[in-house]
Amino acid sequence: MTRGSCLCGAVRFEVSGKTTEIGMCHCSKCRKVSGVASNAVLIVGRDGLAWLSGEDQIAKFEMADGWGPWRCAVCGSPVPKLHPDRGAWWVPAGLLDSDPGVRIAGHIFVDSKAPWDEIAGSARRHREGFESERLK
Ligand SMILES: [Zn+2]
Ligand SMILES: [Zn+2]
Repeated sequence: MTRGSCLCGAVRFEVSGKTTEIGMCHCSKCRKVSGVASNAVLIVGRDGLAWLSGEDQIAKFEMADGWGPWRCAVCGSPVPKLHPDRGAWWVPAGLLDSDPGVRIAGHIFVDSKAPWDEIAGSARRHREGFESERLK
């Protein structure tokens, strides 16, 4: 059981289901919404996440294609988002308050990383998403 929360603590949640390993996404959209080089995300099944508080404080921004972050309306932290296509939650790993027991499995969208982004570690690197399985 892993819990997570936003910076101000208004939004809190609990992950009870199995999660994927952590993916580091280096795409330009993730840079915009996070302000940093890459977004650390793990995925939880639809029934594997429950809100403990603050669900009514969530501001949902979505682009025309449905992509976009959900955030705490008080402090602006990204919060878990229910992915419309996959029936699963996308959980920003930085919100977790304890060790989820999974580690970074790979880096995705490496081809569109920022010129100043230096990827460290031995995790696999994918030019695009995990699905493409094309390695750098
Ligand atoms: Zn907050
Ligand atoms: Zn991304």
